[in-house]
Amino acid sequence: MVIIMNPDANRENIENVIAAIEANGLSAKVMEGSTQKIVGVIGDKTRIASVPFDAMDGVESTVSISKSYKLASREFHPASSIINVDGVNIGDGTPVVMAGPCAVESKEQLFEAADIVKAAGAQFLRGGAYKPRTSPYSFQGLEETGLKYLAKAKERTGLKIVTEVTVVEAVELVAQYADMLQVGARNMQNFGLLKEVGKCGKPVLLKRGLAATIDEWLNAAEYIMSEGNADVVLCERGIRTYETYTRNTLDLSAVAAVKHLSHLPIIVDPSHGTGKWRMVKPMALAAIAAGADGLMTEMHPNPAKALSDGPQSLTPEHFRDIMNCVNKMAKFMREENIINW
Ligand code: PEP
Ligand code: MN
Repeated sequence: MVIIMNPDANRENIENVIAAIEANGLSAKVMEGSTQKIVGVIGDKTRIASVPFDAMDGVESTVSISKSYKLASREFHPASSIINVDGVNIGDGTPVVMAGPCAVESKEQLFEAADIVKAAGAQFLRGGAYKPRTSPYSFQGLEETGLKYLAKAKERTGLKIVTEVTVVEAVELVAQYADMLQVGARNMQNFGLLKEVGKCGKPVLLKRGLAATIDEWLNAAEYIMSEGNADVVLCERGIRTYETYTRNTLDLSAVAAVKHLSHLPIIVDPSHGTGKWRMVKPMALAAIAAGADGLMTEMHPNPAKALSDGPQSLTPEHFRDIMNCVNKMAKFMREENIINW
């Protein structure tokens, strides 16, 4: 069960609600989004069945939720959420684009990429400073130096920064430099990391695990939200199947499923989803047509020289073409009022 507070509920109102929950042996989690304050009840709700929460000062309504994830469910929050990342809205009907190299390799490489991303009209610069590589001998990222280059690229271009955090110990540091913290596919069920980013005070981009069901993915979002962070954006990046031609199988049906089950915005990463730069454009356009709230794509000033994920990285020229076509598709959908969910 969740208890939705009036927008003007004060501290005392919330504390009284928490006290009523705790007096019955249950625990409460307060979630403060940009527009709403919510108290989630954790534990056996039959023990508070007789507590008249609706009559308490500051309470707007109570909602009983059947799914194992509550705060992430559309039952809990029927309207689609719009997540504000340092002034850029995700989920407001205009797709956002996050683009940049797989890894931050040098200041020059990152600045060149950032200038191209900015000029093409994207809103976010991506780039890993901590890289979760399959082999321990592969390039592992520039770590804090990479974060500093990302922050400088933001100063230079105004682009928002999204970058991956791979370990609990680095969350605070990454949050100092980034506008949005990315939890990668390999960490989607790293519950300690999910809880830590739930406390970091910055929006989180949660990628789908390599073999995660949609239910597991939404429960992972719930871990973040139950720590008080309502600003979660999901990212479909392909799942493991028997197919070997593509690196992963991009599950675009996840966009429709998530839109039905959850109020959280969802973006699509056709770069990791296919592993092939040639497939990025058609899958990017299909993602927008399916109702995705944005895209994440890898673009490198010189993909042939990339230290990671060169085969799926777009050249600047291909990236500009995709931006142009995505904008046309989004404009058409807006003007024709095409909403797929
Ligand atoms: C990435 O975005 O750089 C990345 C490693 O993606 P994923 O976690 O989806 O594999
Ligand atoms: Mn990559």
